[in-house]
Amino acid sequence: MKQVTIIGTGYVGLVTGACLAEMGNQVTCLDVDDEKITQLNSGKVPFFEPGLEELVKRGRLAKRLCFTTSYEDALKGAELCFLALPTPSNEDGSCDYRYVFAAAQKLAKHIDDGVLIINKSTIPVGTTEKVRKKIREALADRAVEFDVVSNPEFLQEGSAIYNCMNPDRIILGVENPRSQKLLEQLYAPFIEKIQVMDIASAELAKYAANAMLATRLSFMNHLSGLCEKVGADIDQVRRAIGSDPRIGDKYLQPGIGFGGSCLPKDVDALCAIAQEHGHSSDFFRMILEVNEEQKRAFFEKIEGHFGDLSNLTFAIWGLSFKPNTDDLRQAPSLTLISMLREKGANLRLFDPIAIDQAKKQIENASELTFCVDEYDAAQGADAILLITEWPEFQSVDFQKIGSLVRNKVVFDGRNLYSSSELEQLGFEYYCIGKPAKQVLEWSI
Ligand code: NAD
Repeated sequence: MKQVTIIGTGYVGLVTGACLAEMGNQVTCLDVDDEKITQLNSGKVPFFEPGLEELVKRGRLAKRLCFTTSYEDALKGAELCFLALPTPSNEDGSCDYRYVFAAAQKLAKHIDDGVLIINKSTIPVGTTEKVRKKIREALADRAVEFDVVSNPEFLQEGSAIYNCMNPDRIILGVENPRSQKLLEQLYAPFIEKIQVMDIASAELAKYAANAMLATRLSFMNHLSGLCEKVGADIDQVRRAIGSDPRIGDKYLQPGIGFGGSCLPKDVDALCAIAQEHGHSSDFFRMILEVNEEQKRAFFEKIEGHFGDLSNLTFAIWGLSFKPNTDDLRQAPSLTLISMLREKGANLRLFDPIAIDQAKKQIENASELTFCVDEYDAAQGADAILLITEWPEFQSVDFQKIGSLVRNKVVFDGRNLYSSSELEQLGFEYYCIGKPAKQVLEWSI
């Protein structure tokens, strides 16, 4: 059992804290957000993550998990202190690590001798060393021994607890044997998953992983545009290439562009890291350009079909950047919503979980219509826009939808539906990377 402090109680911090408490450790989670801590202290989880509320409840009941806004209370007796702070993008795309530095300065006043600071935030190469320096400066003349290591996080929102309890790897950028031993004790249940490396490699590994995932998505999205032009079917191409074990079938699903709090910002930061070190960033930059182009291309399909969009009504199904989360950060839905609003369209929005977040985060949200389900959103719509592939959208009754809409048109941003089934019901159907109808007819 270890005494653990988590600084930053967001997606990463809260999931990590709840899982470490579940594993028998004594965990205190700290956040500067009073409201968040008040909610957590009354048993409420401030965001949606499957299974998290039950885990937090169990940890609190067992008195192994508590929450505070006080650095002093949080760090009393702590042997291990995780940093799980936001690292958003600066205007130029580089990583803004001011939250990490602010926490480093604050924690220095309260740490005890021998504490190990473990950074989970995604930060550029060299930042772990800068954090060490910040803490040393803030300690001033207090003689406290401490170490700072890198332990980048790879959890995925929507399956975060599973990822935490069944990690496929635990990356430790650690150069001091005592620190390594402490971490091996903490992560003892997953000892065979631990990969120890130098700090720079651990820091870069996180960016490399996200850039690789983003590369696959942008590759498939770019290829889907070519499929539409040459009359090929991206799903068949995907199956063909995904059966090659050297390629594998994961992360090959085309869509309307990737979003979320990590992929776009981390690829952007990788561009900045490359530039800062005199290395070309062109390859990484192209991943992001293709992603923007993909969102634009989807919008252009809608505009291409209707021409003038003013006063048309669109049902938007799905707002979160992916299913099983209420996270809207960099969600493609937001880009599409703002493009459609700019053209004077009326929007009827539905998401199974993310409506509350959308009301808070979308500018002038009161001008939009938030609906109770996908059928409600479809009322009087000129087209259905499927944006997030929530499982419940798979089994929608399109016969019923047909009786609710004004125009039977579906733009499927996730290739969720069957064109033949929808066309049989009289819908015009657009998706990603499939041959245009006339190409099919010519070939018959
Ligand atoms: P988040 O915004 O959900 O949570 C960060 C929390 O830190 C917030 O609650 C905020 O109030 C708090 N905070 C800010 N300044 C603070 C301070 N000085 N002291 C204490 N608390 C403070 O962010 P997140 O999604 O958990 O991401 C955290 C880090 O992990 C980022 O670097 C991110 O790139 C990385 N990461 C995120 C994910 C993910 O899926 N969300 C996955 C892997 C890695």
